[in-house]
Amino acid sequence: MAGAAVLGRLTWRAADVVGVATETPRVKTIAFDVDGWPGHLPGQHVDVRLTAEDGYQAQRSYSIASAPDGARIELTVERLDDGEVSPYLTDELRPGDEIELRGPVGGYFVWEPSRGGPLLLVAGGSGVVPLMAMVRRRAALGSDVDTRLLFSSRAWDDVIYRDELEGLNGDGLRVHHALTRSQPPGWSGYARRVDAEMLAEVGPAPSERPQIYVCGPTPFVEAVAEALVELGHEPLRIKTERFGPTGG
Ligand SMILES: Cc1cc2nc3c(=O)[nH]c(=O)nc-3n(C[C@H](O)[C@H](O)[C@H](O)COP(=O)(O)OP(=O)(O)OC[C@H]3O[C@@H](n4cnc5c(N)ncnc54)[C@H](O)[C@@H]3O)c2cc1C
Repeated sequence: MAGAAVLGRLTWRAADVVGVATETPRVKTIAFDVDGWPGHLPGQHVDVRLTAEDGYQAQRSYSIASAPDGARIELTVERLDDGEVSPYLTDELRPGDEIELRGPVGGYFVWEPSRGGPLLLVAGGSGVVPLMAMVRRRAALGSDVDTRLLFSSRAWDDVIYRDELEGLNGDGLRVHHALTRSQPPGWSGYARRVDAEMLAEVGPAPSERPQIYVCGPTPFVEAVAEALVELGHEPLRIKTERFGPTGG
């Protein structure tokens, strides 16, 4: 049975685009109906494969943004202007198009409300995507697990899921923004990169033994993990996912 399950995840499946939504000027969310989708856990990702007319193929990983929801999954993709795959996903895909994907992949960077808390989620840019799946799952199940989300973006207009996060703030979830490059007038949130002092303020304290998930570009993840260890968090409770280029 276990073998069949693994083979199932490794099967490339047809994924039909059913919606495209703009999150920020550089980020879109694409919704797919996936043929035979086996379901997923918040934090898992998929491999996406594109095939050109001449047979050339390119493959990348994308976290699943949505909470488990039958055969439907959502991916949130940031366009890298010089990228090979991301501009196609953000600019070219339309409802009715089909791509291939396989998954879900990953069993380590996952969280379900049944695993309890407190929970500290630290995101840099599009690194918020798998953490959003956790936050959405928490909300869908009506969980009140103590959850802090510290989300670093360049500017207010780059904050992915901004309105939805505002709406979810409360009921044990506290959302803190850090804007590193520019801040709107009257900004009262953080206006610098994530550091140990900020992490200590956001909490929970190491003595509360939070489960910690950190996701974003490789240098961001490494700096945050280092600061967390410096504060006294147990390395084994810090789970990380790096979105950097392959091998980065
Ligand atoms: C487990 C996992 C989950 C991921 N989930 C997401 C997600 O939910 N949303 C999302 O937008 N991306 C995600 N990524 C990143 C994604 O897989 C691609 O790396 C990204 O979309 C760039 O692909 P590309 O083909 O457009 O760029 P490429 O053609 O691969 O690269 C173009 C240029 O950008 C640089 N580069 C590549 N990747 C990055 C990056 N992530 N940040 C900065 N520079 C980069 C390269 O070095 C190169 O110079 C995830 C990566 C991993 C490993």
